Amino acid sequence: MRFDVVTIFPAMFGPVFAAGVVGRAIERGVISLHTHDLRDYTHDRHRQVDDMPFGGGPGMVLKPEPVFEAVESIRPQNSGPVVLMEPWGERLDQRLAEELAAEPGLIVVCGRYEGIDDRVRTALASREISIGDYVLSGGEIPAMVFIDAVARLVPGAVGDPGSLAQDSFSTSAAGWPQFTRPAEYRGLGVPDVLLSGDHARIEKWRREQAAQRHGPRTKELKKT
Ligand code: SAH
Repeated sequence: MRFDVVTIFPAMFGPVFAAGVVGRAIERGVISLHTHDLRDYTHDRHRQVDDMPFGGGPGMVLKPEPVFEAVESIRPQNSGPVVLMEPWGERLDQRLAEELAAEPGLIVVCGRYEGIDDRVRTALASREISIGDYVLSGGEIPAMVFIDAVARLVPGAVGDPGSLAQDSFSTSAAGWPQFTRPAEYRGLGVPDVLLSGDHARIEKWRREQAAQRHGPRTKELKKT
């Protein structure tokens, strides 16, 4: 699966995706990540990507032309949907990540300033995705969150596919508390059942714990 990112800060992505599961998936060629500097698609001496908003108001808006030209230059290599990171977009969740992991690729556009000229949304993008109801200063961190969530679902990205199946949210009974050695640390122990070697009991305990985690917490979140 191929990811192309259009951004004014391409250097932000390298270090984040050099490490961990996604980094290894890139190394092994399971996915590829290509960043594109929006300024490379400008034609003026100052490489200007933003301009004042029509109708007045504070701040600057990302101009449409460089975004259109960047996506058009990427298009021959990537037939996937164009995704805009936007605070008012569709909320990213595991279901959406799973849906998009089935695409051949994704072209991700990161906004900055007051946002992107709306013609990018209406005439170029196929989806707008938000990582939550809060406003960040740019689309780069949201794009990283989004790409990480999708990339680890691409078949072959995670070494042991069993660890995806046991992830929180992927199945209803998942996401139990995990422990590793030492069995006692600063007076804090590990539940006896995990040391028992009794796999049936361990599995039952994990299911119960997971149900508790998701149950009350989900209700709490709904109340607020
Ligand atoms: N004035 C705009 C906010 C612009 S924030 C508004 O009120 O909607 C600048 C850019 O950051 C956005 O274009 C978007 O690309 C990104 N961004 C900020 N918060 C985000 C979020 N929660 N999810 C996804 N993208 C976000």
